[in-house]
Amino acid sequence: MPLIVGNWKMNGLGADGVSLASAVAAKVKSAPAKTREVVVCPPFTLLERVGAAIAGSGVSLGGQDCAPKVSGAFTGDVSAPMLKDAGCSWVILGHSERRAGHKESDALVRAKVEAAEAAGLVTIACVGETLAEREGGRALDVVAGQLQGSLPDKRPERWVVAYEPVWAIGTGKTATSDDIRAMHAHIRSYLERRYDRITGVSVLYGGSVKGDNAREILGVSGVDGALVGGASLKAEEFWAICTAR
Ligand code: PEP
Repeated sequence: MPLIVGNWKMNGLGADGVSLASAVAAKVKSAPAKTREVVVCPPFTLLERVGAAIAGSGVSLGGQDCAPKVSGAFTGDVSAPMLKDAGCSWVILGHSERRAGHKESDALVRAKVEAAEAAGLVTIACVGETLAEREGGRALDVVAGQLQGSLPDKRPERWVVAYEPVWAIGTGKTATSDDIRAMHAHIRSYLERRYDRITGVSVLYGGSVKGDNAREILGVSGVDGALVGGASLKAEEFWAICTAR
């Protein structure tokens, strides 16, 4: 079943966040047959309130990051067991905004993935090339390098890789269907070479997915769903994506 994940990023105060979550939950609940597997990832401050708003609807809750450690003197950080305790079953890790803005290395992302898996969270590990890397013909190598560095050697039961070309995030530009198909095939073949089997893996596309392009993107072979930023902040548009295929 296709998986649609909403990444709210650093958006949402109490009332707005709860009303967005409630609207998504009501749509999912009212049309279960049309519904994809839907996850919303609000900021940490809204996890508990959004968790309450989506309870019983079939929508799941995720965090946008977690620390590599379980607890201790790490001011400002939130650990994977804390996310779990707040009701999360998912976590986005290695998003390009964290890799770029917080200088997260592949090694750090891998440590976070290991911590999340140890806490029982399903990880959504993000990879993707910059525009310069794509124009330089290095997109496939860059993504393979990120997968090599960011994923643990032990394969989890359920796991998600999100291919998000950095130049497509929040820009309104999307990769072509051919480029998406080629990259998703590349990711799968990398995973097949590295792991004994890759059942339980979903490969998502992310980068300016909207209501009006979701059908085409979700129809590309090898695309198991979408990681959605800006369009996940509007219930109608997010729902259009959820029901696009
Ligand atoms: C994202 O932040 O993961 C993302 C894909 O953002 P947007 O949909 O806004 O491009």
